[in-house]
Amino acid sequence: MLTTCFNVVGFNWMASPAATELETIVMDWLGDMLKLPNSFLFSGTDGGVLHGSTHESVVCTMASARDQILSRIGEENIGKLVAYGSDQTHSVIQKVSQIVGIPSKNFRAIETTISSSFTLSPETLRLTVCSDMEAGLVPFYLWATVGTTATTAADPLGPLCNVAKDYGMWVHVDAAYAGSACICPEFRQYIDGIEGANSFTLNAQKWFFTALDCCRLWVKNPSALTKSMSTDLEVLRNKASEWWTSKIGK
Ligand SMILES: *Cc1c(COP(=O)(O)O)cnc(C)c1O
Repeated sequence: MLTTCFNVVGFNWMASPAATELETIVMDWLGDMLKLPNSFLFSGTDGGVLHGSTHESVVCTMASARDQILSRIGEENIGKLVAYGSDQTHSVIQKVSQIVGIPSKNFRAIETTISSSFTLSPETLRLTVCSDMEAGLVPFYLWATVGTTATTAADPLGPLCNVAKDYGMWVHVDAAYAGSACICPEFRQYIDGIEGANSFTLNAQKWFFTALDCCRLWVKNPSALTKSMSTDLEVLRNKASEWWTSKIGK
C-alpha cells in the first residue's frame, strides 16, 4: 500500500536506496516469521525479493535454473530439459516453461492419488526422472507445492529435495496459496525440508491479505539469479550502486 501511495521507483538500489533496503528488511521479517533457514535470509547468507506475482518470480527462477544447466551442457540442448511437478501443480509452470523456452511436452505432471492426499510421490518422481535420463533427456527443475490450490496438498519437501539433489535439479517450492499458514507453529512442519530447496515463493495477497500484487521470492545462492537476470544499464549505475551490488552480490 505504501509503495503504491508514494509511487516509489524502486528499480534498484540507486533509484531508491530506501525502498531497496526496506525490501531486504521486510523479506527478513517474513523469513524470520516462517523460521526460514539462514540460507534464505539477508541476515544470513542470501536473501529475496518482492515481486508482483508467482508467475514473475518463477520466470526468474526457471530462467536461472535453465542458464545454470545450459552453461554446462550447451545451449543447443535446451530441448532436452525436463521439469517435474504433480498433476496438482498450478498452471504457472506450463505458462512459465513456454516463456523460458522449455517445450510443453517436457513438463511431467506426475499423477497423484487420493490415498496419498494428492501429494507428489518421491518414489514416482525418481522413476520418472530415471526413465527420462535413459531417453537422453536432462532433468533440471522440480516444482514442489505446499498447499495446492485445489486441495491444499503439501508435497513432502525433504524426500523430494533428496531426489532432486541426486540428479542436480533446481527445486522451487510454491507456497503461493497456503504458505502464510506456516507462520503458525502448528503448521510450520509443512515447510520442513525447505533448506534443501533453491527457491521459495509465497503470495502475500492470498492468506496474508495484502493488496494485489505481492509475491515474496526467497532464493538460496542468488548469484545464479543475478547472473541470469541482471542488466547493466549505464544510467542505473553510480559509485554507491556499485558498492551496494558488491554488498549483496555475494
Ligand atoms: C495463486 C497460485 C499461483 C499463482 O500465483 P500468481 O501470483 O497469480 O502468479 C501459483 N501457485 C498456487 C498454488 C496458487 O494458489
